[in-house]
Amino acid sequence: MLVSRETIRQILSSYEPRKIKIATICSHTALQIFHGARQEGIKTVGICTEDRRRIYEAFPLGCPDEFLVVDDPSKIPAGELADMNAILVPHGSLVEYAGSRLASLRVPMLGNRESLQWEADRGKMFEWLKAAGIQVPATLEPDKIDRPCVVKLAGAKGGRGYRVVSTPEEFYEHFEGMNVTVQEYLIGVRAYPHYFYSPIHKDGFRVAEGRLELIGIDRRFESNIDEAYRTQMAGLSFTPSFTVVGNELLVMRESLLSDIMDMGKAVVEAAERLFGGIPGPFCLETVVDENLQFYAFEISARIVAGTNIYPQGSPYTIYQWKEPMSMGRRIAREVKLAAKAGKLPKIIY
Ligand code: AMP
Repeated sequence: MLVSRETIRQILSSYEPRKIKIATICSHTALQIFHGARQEGIKTVGICTEDRRRIYEAFPLGCPDEFLVVDDPSKIPAGELADMNAILVPHGSLVEYAGSRLASLRVPMLGNRESLQWEADRGKMFEWLKAAGIQVPATLEPDKIDRPCVVKLAGAKGGRGYRVVSTPEEFYEHFEGMNVTVQEYLIGVRAYPHYFYSPIHKDGFRVAEGRLELIGIDRRFESNIDEAYRTQMAGLSFTPSFTVVGNELLVMRESLLSDIMDMGKAVVEAAERLFGGIPGPFCLETVVDENLQFYAFEISARIVAGTNIYPQGSPYTIYQWKEPMSMGRRIAREVKLAAKAGKLPKIIY
């Protein structure tokens, strides 16, 4: 059950604005989130199993100020966090662990928690992309497969278990009876722009009531497809797989920035119309083809792991901020500014 905005607003109104803490699960982008909060003078809480603690202690500047040790990270201790004056920052692992329970957590969360429900459901996500007027790959019924398609397991983030098939027979050989999506395989360069939408700032690239910032762009390393040339050079045959292993920085030709900014703007405006907006970080997974056309196949309505590449700022933040600005720091900066201006409800739900 989705907790109401009113309930979250009430919890938030009991918070002492100058003592707000930032909390997240110790995983995914936590080092960056804690580091960024530290740079902005905000205290942090790391939700962590005992065995993970030593990993975060190995990186003192990315280590939370306090740990909230749990046996099971999927059970977020919302009440305790609220008692600690904490705002929860959702990231990929948190969304994965908490699943649909995230919606009911009685703790203020950065962004609009409804957007995470739109992200979690592929049908809804495509509705969102289409409402934004963004080109998307075709989705096919298994019997209609007539071109290379990527088959995606339900809920599987990070590409695990995906496979390319070109015929219905090939599909049924591997996925008979399984809950999957069949998507046209996009040929081109993958580009994953990371955006931050601030409803608080009234300057810069104006979108809705605020401003849109491009924080960075990444591309991923996926096993085994991204090392395919080596495998082929070694004379081996292999079945392409897409398990995400890491990320690398991408800087795009400057003339493509106009498409990138307009896509981000359209996603924010569609989010406003569909479910009340998307303050904070989000990312589009796109492929740019040889005609420089963008196609998007995924929205992440939260911070993505690709932002871990630039804890000291990116080739895009350098033109916006005089200090090194990571996505983690950008989040903390927004929380700080909103708390000071009494505008936390604009960026929290
Ligand atoms: P996802 O779970 O949607 O983030 O996809 C994981 C990875 O699979 C992506 O990073 C891409 O490399 C690949 N992929 C997903 N969808 C497509 C597509 N429609 N065409 C080509 N590659 C795709």
